Amino acid sequence: MKPRVRFAPSPTGFLHVGSARTALFNWLYARSTGGTYILRIEDTDQERNRPELTQQLLQELDWLGLDWDEGPIFQSEKLERHREVVQTFLESGHAYLCDDENREVEGTSFAQGLAVRFRMPQDKTISFTDLVRGEVTFNTDDLEDFVIWRSNGTPMFLLANAVDDADMGITHAIRGEDLLSGVPKVLLLLDAMGVEHPTYAHLPLLVNEQRKKLSKRRDDVAVGDYRGKGFLPEAMVNYLALLGWGPPDGVEIRSPSEIVEIFNIEDVNKAAAFFDIQKFEHINSSYLRGLSKEDFMQRVEPWIGKEAPWPEENFDQDKFSTMADLIQEKLRTLSDTPRFVDFLFLEQPDIDEDSWKKTMKDPEVVDSLLSHVANSFEDCEWETEILKDLVTKAGEKVELKLGKAQAPLRVAVTGRTVGPPLFETMACCMTREEVLKRISTARKSL
Ligand code: GLU
Repeated sequence: MKPRVRFAPSPTGFLHVGSARTALFNWLYARSTGGTYILRIEDTDQERNRPELTQQLLQELDWLGLDWDEGPIFQSEKLERHREVVQTFLESGHAYLCDDENREVEGTSFAQGLAVRFRMPQDKTISFTDLVRGEVTFNTDDLEDFVIWRSNGTPMFLLANAVDDADMGITHAIRGEDLLSGVPKVLLLLDAMGVEHPTYAHLPLLVNEQRKKLSKRRDDVAVGDYRGKGFLPEAMVNYLALLGWGPPDGVEIRSPSEIVEIFNIEDVNKAAAFFDIQKFEHINSSYLRGLSKEDFMQRVEPWIGKEAPWPEENFDQDKFSTMADLIQEKLRTLSDTPRFVDFLFLEQPDIDEDSWKKTMKDPEVVDSLLSHVANSFEDCEWETEILKDLVTKAGEKVELKLGKAQAPLRVAVTGRTVGPPLFETMACCMTREEVLKRISTARKSL
């Protein structure tokens, strides 16, 4: 039978990286087994049943490229069905009415102000095989009679979750470890309905560098924020896939379609997975390097348009296109782009204070160095190798090696110690006059 695999998020207004990983692993499972990938929005919580919250979620899934075959199906539209199942439980004795002090109330009809609890069987062992965690066992004596229907007339999460999985013929549910403890209750609900259990796989917890569970307050957990910072969706998918899973051959950087080829849920491990932003940046920069020029130019557009830190009319597309070849391999994210090129489109470079302090700490030497550079730049040929040679010679006059001599010049011209290759940039994209003017301005500020 073809697997029917679902991702069942509760909308919260943004897609959490943990939730995105769950979406991805369900998608990988469906795609690698030829199954059906189904999206179900679990929006029974009244406050979260707002279209804009769901919209946000759908946009992020779309951005990641996780396409679904069925859905989105909205849990909030199944209320009548949930109620019907609870009614059968009341009639069969699997559940009972209770008042707000948890006292059982006679009867089998819903009533305003009465909740419904599932009756926990006594001393029953419940086991299931989790595709990640192996055999998991619970005893019903450790579980309480739990509410399945609220007194305000709405279903509880576990009930809606179980009924919908059954009705949708779900065969596989891959989700976060935090949901593991609810499984025995769901299995009891499914048994009471007389339907089969889906197979579960619980993905390991995501933790930050202090090995603490990722938290909304402490950590960057919104997929949208990474998108805004200039991470590429394919890099994000690649990175998320590595959170708990590793390719058997150890080659970690590979495209979503290649991951589908080798994905096996049994290779997922139980140990908590560290959400390592540096590793994510490393992967992203590798994807950025791999983009064709045309693709790069298209993707970088939002960062060099209206939001860029220079006056729009100063921007020169040809110059940027030349610079793109020099910077593409240096970027960690697309949002690094403006600070690699802003000095070309600003009247004066935006001088970074730390860079200035670091490189200009010996004003006499720097002044002498920059005056030698300026003199030799006056009437030389404006070419990369020649500029490099002249700076090497100017450095020798003040006993500085090229690396050290280049640093203050870079800060004078670009404003920062880190940036695109300096001599190429000056040769290709700046005029002699501009460079000399910047050297002179820097000397005056020493
Ligand atoms: N709606 C649940 C959540 O977002 C997930 C339910 C499930 O995957 O079974 O936490």
